[in-house]
Order: sequence, then structure tokens, then C-alpha cells
Amino acid sequence: MKTKVVITGVSGRMGVALLEGVFADDGLELHAAIDRSGSVLEGQDAGAQVGVVSGVDVTADLATSLAGADVLIDFTRPEAAMQYLAACQQAGVKMVIGTTGFTEAEKAKIQAASEHVAIVFAPNMSVGVTLLINLVEQAAKVLNDGYDIEVVEMHHRHKVDAPSGTALRLGEAAAQGLGQDLKDCAVYAREGVTGEREAGKIGFATLRGGDVVGDHTVIYAGTGERVEITHKASSRATFALGALRATKFLSEKNTGLYDMRDVLGLKQAP
Ligand code: NAD
Repeated sequence: MKTKVVITGVSGRMGVALLEGVFADDGLELHAAIDRSGSVLEGQDAGAQVGVVSGVDVTADLATSLAGADVLIDFTRPEAAMQYLAACQQAGVKMVIGTTGFTEAEKAKIQAASEHVAIVFAPNMSVGVTLLINLVEQAAKVLNDGYDIEVVEMHHRHKVDAPSGTALRLGEAAAQGLGQDLKDCAVYAREGVTGEREAGKIGFATLRGGDVVGDHTVIYAGTGERVEITHKASSRATFALGALRATKFLSEKNTGLYDMRDVLGLKQAP
């Protein structure tokens, strides 16, 4: 039986990539397509944006959309995701959350909801980045003394949060490798006379421009050498394919909070 999928934010960049992915996947069926109330797409066939007649119209009606659905995939904004979270919890619909920019309090709500419905929550659903998280933690374990760690990211000009959720996740992985908590060692901005760089800190630098889908580099700068681990996404399809893989992973789960390392079976490593 096909998994019945609800996609939110279907007018968005990721919404479109997800629609393409669902239409191309024999194991998945588009159950409902949601966009914000007042969206120009409301009432139109959800497939129209990608040249497909799906028979599913875009709607803002959450309750009707969730009835009979298996998994809701959300790549929108935190305020929208929180509404979808509450509704999914109530309706018993599982979730794949790719939205970024949540506060700690919002993340706690996701954690609490996962006691009722299974959720995959990851700031980057690409297989390559998921592997990168493991590599970054492993490198930090080895390069833990005499190496300065910096996380550099670049995204398109439309991105609204910084540093990216992925950059923060990579920072967490590096901190974990050092046996630290990112909260205690992160430096998010530098300007003016900052003084010398403190050992043990993890620095972040954010670049924005053009149509860059997502570049991330973690730098370990030591004496006489520098190690750099880089990932470059060239298409949003990579995130959409990861989200659909996460959707299928949830068919075996009823409750619990998972990330892409669970989906890919990478939790045991490094
Ligand atoms: P976008 O701006 O192109 O699309 C956002 C969508 O959300 C639109 O359809 C918009 O109508 C909808 N939306 C916005 N506010 C809303 C509200 N209040 N209520 C209902 N709907 C609302 O953005 P995008 O580039 O598609 O990215 C969406 C999110 O996904 C961002 O948080 C981005 O950082 C994240 N993202 C995550 C990954 C990942 O792998 N986890 C990859 C890419 C993007």
C-alpha cells in the first residue's frame, strides 16, 4: 500500500522539489497539498507547478488534509511548522520536519510531540550532509588540541535564518567531538577589535548571495596544516529525496524523535 503524504508550503522552493519527488515515487501518494491561507495556488491542482495532473487541489484546510494521511512533510517556517505539529499530534499523523530556524522552546515542543507521533527532524536531509556530520565529529575527536574549528556556510539570497540549521548542526557535531556543548564554545559574529582567537571556540561565518543551494565547510586550522571538510548541494532534489527516504523510514515507527542519521543507519558510527 502506498504511503499517503501531505506536503505543506507547496508554493515554496522545497515544496516544488517535494511534489516532483512524490510524483516520481511509486511507493508514495500525494494525499493533500497545503499552502498558507490566501496563497495564489489555493484551489489549483498541486501538480500544475511541475506539469502533472494530480487531482489534488492546493488547500489551507488542515483538518480535512490530515484525515486519512500517513505522513506530513513540512519545509516552511517555524511559526507554520508549530501549527502543523499541533494538528498532526492531534490527528495521529507522523511528520518529517525540514524547516529550520526553531527556538529551543519550539524544539522542545517537537520533542514532546514525538512522544505521541513519530517524527524525523533534521536541518539537512541530504545523505551527503548526514555523512558529513559523522566525519566532522570524528575529525574533531582527532584534531582536538591545537586546531581552531570554523564553520563557513553560503546560501542563496532568499534565506531568512543564519547561520544555517546545517551549520549549527555541524558545529554541534564538532563540539561533541571535542567533548563540549556548542552553547559554551560558539562564536557567531566578529567585528572590530575582537582580540586574539580563543582556543577551544567554534567560529561561524555566514555568506549569502545569488542562487547557491547550500555550501558548508568545516575548517580545522592547526600549526602548519589545515583540514577542510566540504559539502556542496547543487540541487534541492537532494533534500527532497532525503525527506522522502525519511517518510518511508517512518512507516516502521509509531513514536519517537529521529534524525537523518537514524534514517540512514549511521547512529552507531563513528
Ligand atoms: P520558501 O520561502 O521557498 O518556501 C516557504 C513556504 O512556506 C512557502 O510555500 C510559503 O507559502 C510557506 N509559508 C511561509 N510562512 C508560512 C505560514 N506562516 N503559514 C503557512 N505557510 C507558510 O522556502 P524554502 O527554500 O522552500 O525553505 C523552506 C524551509 O526549509 C526553510 O526553513 C529552509 O531553511 C528549510 N530547508 C531545509 C532543508 C533540509 O534539508 N532540512 C533543505 C532546504 C531548505
